Amino acid sequence: MSELKDKLFYTQKHIHDVIDEAERKLSEEYCARYMDYLQKARTERLACSEAIALAESRGFRRLDRNAPLKAGDKVYRAIQGKMLLLAVLGADSLEKGVNLCAAHIDSPRLDLKQVPLYEDHEIAYLKTHYYGGIRKYQWVTIPLELRGVAALKSGETVEINIGADPGDPVVYVSDLLPHLAAKQSEQPLGKAIPAEKLNIIVGSCPLKGEEGADRVKLGVMKLLNEKYGITEEDFLSAEIEAVPSIPVREAGLDRSLIAGYGQDDRVCAFAELQAILEVEAPAKTAVCILADKEEIGSVGVTGMISEAFECFMGDLCDSQGVKLSHCFENSFCVSADVTAAFDPTWPEVSELRNTSKLNYGVAISKFTGRGGKSGSNDASAETMGRIRRILSEGGVVWQYAELGKVDEGGGGTVACYMGNRGITTVDAGTPVLAMHSPYELTAKYDCYMTYKAMKAVYASK
Ligand code: MN
Ligand code: MN
Repeated sequence: MSELKDKLFYTQKHIHDVIDEAERKLSEEYCARYMDYLQKARTERLACSEAIALAESRGFRRLDRNAPLKAGDKVYRAIQGKMLLLAVLGADSLEKGVNLCAAHIDSPRLDLKQVPLYEDHEIAYLKTHYYGGIRKYQWVTIPLELRGVAALKSGETVEINIGADPGDPVVYVSDLLPHLAAKQSEQPLGKAIPAEKLNIIVGSCPLKGEEGADRVKLGVMKLLNEKYGITEEDFLSAEIEAVPSIPVREAGLDRSLIAGYGQDDRVCAFAELQAILEVEAPAKTAVCILADKEEIGSVGVTGMISEAFECFMGDLCDSQGVKLSHCFENSFCVSADVTAAFDPTWPEVSELRNTSKLNYGVAISKFTGRGGKSGSNDASAETMGRIRRILSEGGVVWQYAELGKVDEGGGGTVACYMGNRGITTVDAGTPVLAMHSPYELTAKYDCYMTYKAMKAVYASK
């Protein structure tokens, strides 16, 4: 490119062409840690507990609202085991605001209904109610595992885990064979698999010595009772999720990609987490949010709309006699959530000048939303200028991204809920191929640059 073009045009480069060998190695090391986390963090609860284990190993302790706090302190609070807030106290007063990164740890999946177990023609099934935006046809005929908890009347909570052990069986949703799918194949994709047909097969052997109906169901319930001490009624107070039982793997012959379930948004969640674990004695307080419920509107106690966030931040502010609203008005937040990577096989949904591409770095979005930016945070020009400066100072490779063509569809993040609080907020995240599918694809370099971006935000003044 000519010098003048280089000076005047906005151009982007493939990270592989701009990264040196030393940093390429750092990227590989980071991605190995991320893949390990992703493999373990199959649900929001596991994403939370794994993050707590990592944080505690790096000196974080549970926030005690009665104990004094000083600069350099590392604290966290988990909300109902499904949302995690971490902070490293800065040298500056909280009145000057904090640097926030906010990702979510819930992912689309099949939740079991509260009365799920039944038998039909000597096959035992679990009824499901899907969670978040799934394309239902993608969830049939793949290996699924069951992860979650059952809360007993006694007050005890039992962890349900059928899938972590490689020796565990999988469970499964069937589909029609092509030979008999003539009518189904004429249906639009969104209607070919109705939600009430997402029934999970969990058994087929009748219990010996029993008579009458439901002997297969009884056999399954007996196994669950032996393993977890639960009865059918305990499903009423259980949260059991069927998630893809597919190992996280390197993808591509050149191993440049990562394939795995739940990368929306655990790829950003881990980036933030790893970044805050490395924060030492910052000027401004660093805060990492791993929120639940983003995929269903950020509602509920553990979602980003919840006052649980105010409560945590309020406790930090109280320790310095600072008004929470004053802290918020001076704070800066990156809403760290994935965006759609350009898919050359489906170019018609993207507008190439304003879309993110794999291997071009963490993607910054001024706005998200749909139909004329509806429901988006729409960061100001000044906020966009600020994030450009922060990323440039941090040596981060980044790109600009809008999610798809105008009026093609859209999506949201937690950004608007941070903005509603009076916190200056901008969207940034990792580009993903096949987002919300049971097996999503990211590029290693983009994962690494997302982590570097979060580090740069925490280091900013
Ligand atoms: Mn997301
Ligand atoms: Mn999502």
